[in-house]
Amino acid sequence: MRCNSTGARLAVKDNIASLGSLTTCDSNILAGTAIPFDATIVSQLRSRGFSVVGKTGMDEFGMGTHSTTGARGIVRNAEPLQDFSAGGSSGGSAVSVSKGEAEIALGTDTGGSVRMPAAYTGTVGFKPSYGMLSRFGVVPYANSLDTVGLLAKTVTKIRDLLIGTKLFAEHDHNDPTSLPVSVRQRCTAQRTGYDGQARSTLRGITFGLPIEYNVEELNSSVRDGWIRAAQIVEDMGGRVVPVSLPTTRMALSAYYVIAPAEAASNLAKYDGIRYGRRNTDTDTDAPDGVLYAKTRASGFGKEVKRRILLGSYSLSSEAVDNYFIQAQKVRQLVRRDFDRVFKLSNPLRDEQPFDLSDMDESVVLENKLGPTQVDFLLCPTAPTTPPLLEEVLHQTPLDSYMNDVFTVPASLAGLPAISVPMGLASPAQDGEESKANFGGLQLIGQYWDDARLLSVAELVS
Ligand code: GLN
Repeated sequence: MRCNSTGARLAVKDNIASLGSLTTCDSNILAGTAIPFDATIVSQLRSRGFSVVGKTGMDEFGMGTHSTTGARGIVRNAEPLQDFSAGGSSGGSAVSVSKGEAEIALGTDTGGSVRMPAAYTGTVGFKPSYGMLSRFGVVPYANSLDTVGLLAKTVTKIRDLLIGTKLFAEHDHNDPTSLPVSVRQRCTAQRTGYDGQARSTLRGITFGLPIEYNVEELNSSVRDGWIRAAQIVEDMGGRVVPVSLPTTRMALSAYYVIAPAEAASNLAKYDGIRYGRRNTDTDTDAPDGVLYAKTRASGFGKEVKRRILLGSYSLSSEAVDNYFIQAQKVRQLVRRDFDRVFKLSNPLRDEQPFDLSDMDESVVLENKLGPTQVDFLLCPTAPTTPPLLEEVLHQTPLDSYMNDVFTVPASLAGLPAISVPMGLASPAQDGEESKANFGGLQLIGQYWDDARLLSVAELVS
């Protein structure tokens, strides 16, 4: 972390603008860039008594899962875990919290970038409902998925900030995706927990275990930890039932079509003319195309270039129907999966919310396409414990994308999700591995059920 002040401490991911520090997205193309204003989320936190203690390392433009693709180098986990992945792309924010350098750290979560680092550093990472926290002053990666997320050592710190100080209620007219006040009020009126009361029991809460999350790649100790977490939830009075989210596997593929497509379009402006550090080796007599190519070739790292190529291809006329349009259809199916299993309806869907009072229960259940109705989903955040950096650096891009299988579905559907530390039932073998004998437990809620999600996560963690 680059530190530049002390006080009530807030660490800020390097893709979020804050006055007094550079905002480079850990990319050479933005090296030396100072955005001349605070992102709305930064000014909202400053007005609540926080001061920015530094900008944190990340994967370049948020593209990655282990904070290994940033131009400033790999983000290291806190000792004694320095040889293990800190997760990504908000790895630096998570490490600043785990080291106690900041009480709250801001990250961004497009497909898991706040939850994954939380799982790999033993901290708490919360991704709010899409549209709740302003993204004004946050450099976009994939606009339809990007959210600002919060990291802290405890759920209580996050709940106190988001719900206790009514951050959730603040609309930002500078961000077109910030939910309007009237819609916020309508959504809030349909939910409970926004009064900030802590819960004392899980009685009356049903948790779903998605059967499709029991993938082959799931590490056996993480699977045991998941089962143990379900038992703890039952011991605390909660009900646990299996549910089916059949589109899970397709969700990962759809994400890796949609996110790169949006990224390719967002990153087109960094050409050394409109934005981005111009490649100074360029012969001034060279045609513009050469300047543009040289700037982008030297300014972007390998993973970002891969995403730009992938995204440009899937948006090309030859591929758009087979990739981009199909991925958007899968996205609808993913949303439908979630709406089918949650008891609460999604206040943003076109369909009228079910009015339970004038309907026979069997009709309601039929409309929801099945009898399984849950309040929250309970699953691991990542399929494995924190992997060794050594292994990660030799992974193929596809292996690395596979890590996101449990985090991208909630992102595609815009739902709130949180990762809390999960102790593992069976101790790993001695040696290196035993140092990182933990994982992340993820809870996912229906849209705008953030307050209840946080109060339940507080009990489960
Ligand atoms: N690992 C995912 C990706 O590379 C998620 C990143 C994110 O949430 N910013 O796209």
